[in-house]
Amino acid sequence: MNEAAAKEAVYRIVQHSGLLPTFTVREDAQVRTANAYIKGHERVIAYNPGFMARILDSTRTDWSAVSVLAHEIAHHLLGHTLDPDAMHPGDELACDRYSGFILHRMGATLEESLAAMEVAGNVHGTRSHPPKHARLAAIRQGWEEAGRLSVPGDRLTFTFVNDLTHVVRFAGDANTYYINARQELVWFDQYADPIAFGRLENAAGTAYPFTLTWQDQRYRVDGGGTIWSMGANGMDRQVGRMEPFVAPQRQGR
Ligand SMILES: [Zn+2]
Repeated sequence: MNEAAAKEAVYRIVQHSGLLPTFTVREDAQVRTANAYIKGHERVIAYNPGFMARILDSTRTDWSAVSVLAHEIAHHLLGHTLDPDAMHPGDELACDRYSGFILHRMGATLEESLAAMEVAGNVHGTRSHPPKHARLAAIRQGWEEAGRLSVPGDRLTFTFVNDLTHVVRFAGDANTYYINARQELVWFDQYADPIAFGRLENAAGTAYPFTLTWQDQRYRVDGGGTIWSMGANGMDRQVGRMEPFVAPQRQGR
């Protein structure tokens, strides 16, 4: 994919969002995979041409490049690039969901929408990216939602998820996460179905009754519900809170 084709793809993706394209698209061999960042007043989407060529080659569909670009566009649209050092698993899933949604709108099949993630797994180099199965689930969810919205007369349905036991919040991360009855760490935003991307494990007999894990991330949870990142030399940091989930009361009439 040359830069002109990438620009064209970004233009089309943004068109399907009903917005005007205000992005700078550029090839950049310094970027490991693909990246979204702000430079000055420019909103940049950069991609490694070798990475993109490998993705296109192994998936044999142009949609794979479109889905990578759509994911990066979502980081801009959702405001994640305003805080470039923050890496939140929920943000990655939200962008994956958007890529599935937009690819459906653009006419891609589910397989085409999943193709890049199937071969690359980690499309976007982050320190705390969610596992591939969760990211595939997020793309599928977005793709299916676009399908439901395109059916005329479809009514909004709200899902009540009733197997949540805890709420998990991390400092500086606007996402809300939950623990479900199977001790899975899940992300969902009230409109989406929960997606499991990590686990809560029992660590009985220690000062920290639980560990919270996903990919290479590992945190401890103390008896008071404080989530700790265990650093070297005892430099432990409080990074979040885990609290019992109280189901919201439904409003009576
Ligand atoms: Zn990303």
